Order: sequence, then C-alpha cells, then structure tokens
Amino acid sequence: MDSPDTATRYSRQVRFPLIGPAGQERLGAARILLVGCGALGAGLAEMLVRSGVGTLVLVDRDVVDATNLGRQSTYTNEDVERRLPKAAALAHHLAAFNPLVKLVPCVTEFTPATAPELLADVELVLDGTDNLETRYLINDLCVRAAMPWIYGACVGSSGMTANIVPGETPCLRCLFPDPPPPGTLETCETAGIIAPAAMLVASVQAAEALKFLTGARAAVRRSLLRFELWPWRCFELGAAAAPRADCPCCAERKFPFAEAAASSRTAVLCGRHSVQLRPASPLRVELGVLAERLARFHQVKQNDWVLHFEAEGVHFTLFEDGRALLTGVNDPVAARTLFDRIIGT
Ligand SMILES: [Zn+2]
Repeated sequence: MDSPDTATRYSRQVRFPLIGPAGQERLGAARILLVGCGALGAGLAEMLVRSGVGTLVLVDRDVVDATNLGRQSTYTNEDVERRLPKAAALAHHLAAFNPLVKLVPCVTEFTPATAPELLADVELVLDGTDNLETRYLINDLCVRAAMPWIYGACVGSSGMTANIVPGETPCLRCLFPDPPPPGTLETCETAGIIAPAAMLVASVQAAEALKFLTGARAAVRRSLLRFELWPWRCFELGAAAAPRADCPCCAERKFPFAEAAASSRTAVLCGRHSVQLRPASPLRVELGVLAERLARFHQVKQNDWVLHFEAEGVHFTLFEDGRALLTGVNDPVAARTLFDRIIGT
C-alpha cells in the first residue's frame, strides 16, 4: 500500500488551531538534533517524526540492550539480538512510521570534537541523554551559539525538564552552577525507573519542541518543571526567571565544558554494567580488518556498524569511531586492562 499523502497524514495536527497549515509547513522545514536515543530520546524521536519534523539528526554512543526493552519505545528483541547501535535501530524503525522525514543516524558520542558537525544547520537541540557531562557540554555549546535546547531528565518515578533559551531563560548553569561529584546523584541503575516517568518528560519536551518549531515562541514554557508520579507531586519553579547575572556561562561567557578535551577516556554507562573506552584522539577503524584478526581467537559477529565478541566473560562491542563498549565489567581500570590485552592499543 502506498504511503498516505502529506495532507492526510498530518490532518489532525493541522486542524489544531495553534499549529495550523503555516505551523506544519515550518515544522516540515526544521532540522533538529537529538542527543541520546534512550527512553527520553526514543520517545521524543517517535513523536517528532510522526508529527512531521523536516530533518532529525540522531546521535547515540550505545547499542540496544535487553534492559532497555522495559521502557525505551520502538526497540525490539531483534535489535538486542543483533546488538544494533541505538541511533541506527531507531532510524530504521522511525523510517517505517514516516518516510517523509529525513533521518540522519550518527553512531558516535557527543563530544567537543564531534559536536560542530552534528550541530550544523540545526535550530533546536533536544536532550535525551542520561548523563550530566553531556548536558553541561550541550549547555555550553548552545549558550555560546545562542541556540535553544530542551533539557530533560528522569529517574525512578520522577522527571524534570526546562526550555533553555539563551539570553531569555536561565541556562543549566544558572539552575545548577556546577555538576555534582560523580556518584552523588541517583541513576536508573541505583533508583530504577518506570517507563511512564520517561514518557511524560519526553511528551512535555516534544510539546515544547512543537511550539519552537512551528513558530510559537511566545507560548514556550519558561519554568523548570519537576514532578513525581508515585506518589504524585508536581512543582513548577521560576516561571518569570531570567538568566542569572553571575552565571559563569550566560554572564561571564566561560565555556569550560565546550573547551575541554574529552575529559576522560573511560565512562561507566548508566545502568548497564558496562564501561565505554574511547580513543585518545579521533580515528576511524576498519572493522573488517579487525574482525579478521580477532576471528583467529574469538567468535566474532559483525553488522553494518559494530563488531562484537565475548572474551573472559566480558562482551566486547567495537565501533568504527574507535570506541569500545565492554559489558560485564564496572571497573574502568579492569576494562582498560582487558581491552589492551585482547585488542591492543
Ligand atoms: Zn546561565
């Protein structure tokens, strides 16, 4: 069967008077960047693709894992079995929902080195990440470039979101001047998470994105929204707040997160019993050549984006951009040692 025509597909949304035909047209011309394709990101991506955004750039550093299936929409058992990267799997599923949207999957990490290319020509950045390091980097880059972004976070049954419009609303560092020391905040691993919390944050973010992208800037919410679903509580803070006069980012124009080299070559991933190792400098790996070498000692499987194998009870996933994901280990030093022994530096 043919794909429905554009007018039919978007008819109910166009009938909503605050969007209308002009808003839909603007939405169809918009290019946006989604950083992180987990529970928030997959939910956001699905809503925006179905609503008819023009181009969606999807970036994620991870592969689909069985623990994701309990809450991250669109992913399937087959994605887990094939160990597909989230950005690639999500783009594949989204294309089936709406072939009119241009999808640009990027299987990489959002860092100061990769960001300029990912941000090119976008008009809005959506936060679907699960870590503060990346959010502070997004904040630095967006405030520096006067580009709006939509912060979102969730854990347990709670969620938080804010629209950050540089020069108009408080930025992430106005709200939380410095990231807390690692290990002090609850994560999906320590506190768990229920799917509705993620979907509610994603829904609020998607609604705000639609306001931005259809040209309804005056309707964009200016408060920090925080809620808990279980038990129910909801707080809306700082509806009239402006950027802080002493904000290191907005006022002093200091952008340490954007200017830092990637702070560490290892990262322990949220809720995954996994460690990511990244190369000291950007590189491109010939996965086919590496697979041949490793196949002498290990049972190696490969798809278009990654190769993977098991060694010493640890599951290795190797990406073209030189990153490695080691699942079954929590200690970064142990992960690095094992990587050096099995793959070499
Ligand atoms: Zn600020």
